[in-house]
Amino acid sequence: MIVAANWKMNLSLEAAGALAHGLAMRRLGSVRRLLFVPHPYVLPMSIRLQASDVRLGGQDCHQAESGAHTGDVSAMMLRDCGAVTVLLGHSERRSDHSESSALVAAKAAQALAYGLDIVVCIGETLAERQAGVAEDVVIQQLRDSLPTEMPAGKIIIAYEPVWAIGTGMVASLDDIAAMHQAIAKALPSSQNGTGEGSIPVLYGGSVKADNAADIFALPHVSGGLVGGASLELRAFDAICDAAADITTVAGT
Ligand code: PEP
Repeated sequence: MIVAANWKMNLSLEAAGALAHGLAMRRLGSVRRLLFVPHPYVLPMSIRLQASDVRLGGQDCHQAESGAHTGDVSAMMLRDCGAVTVLLGHSERRSDHSESSALVAAKAAQALAYGLDIVVCIGETLAERQAGVAEDVVIQQLRDSLPTEMPAGKIIIAYEPVWAIGTGMVASLDDIAAMHQAIAKALPSSQNGTGEGSIPVLYGGSVKADNAADIFALPHVSGGLVGGASLELRAFDAICDAAADITTVAGT
């Protein structure tokens, strides 16, 4: 089980430090925790998280190695500042910055070249779901957003219905299960399922302490990508506990 926190563009440096400290105080052997922070916070949070098992990441990187790209951040910079992973293709990047799936794939290749793990986000809009094309859209995004080279153990997918992000609306368990099954089926056969080398698929979209257990128990769901609820230590801890419970049940 994997639980990823996406702080987006939130928190003062002081509040971020306190929250990271709280995360670092826990050890959750069975649950992999990832934390995606705003770029200026990567270095200070890497210091806070030094002795912890939380894996730190940036929320985007540029597709080029370096150059005249004012305001952008490279994969090398993230790595040099202590990040081990990067979130790519979040729907807020796709909508706020017109990022296409082809661009996301180029960013993914660049991040992997610098040794970063990647979490690639895909998901349909409400209009696409209502039009009955959600699965087609998501599978096409999956195919177009992944890099050509797919090293084992470096890639995570996050399925996030756009209309469920930050809205308090959660996809139904049936819809989540159906989409995760479709994604698992579309992945290369060596990398679908739950075995070694397989690509984990997270669900994101208003995951909270009170719905996490039901979502995480679904087949083909390997955990969650959490925005709003990751800004509060107790809420995020409770979501991680729900993931740990699933791991315990699976292991018994
Ligand atoms: C997200 O930021 O990817 C997200 C899913 O946000 P929220 O949990 O607030 O819906």
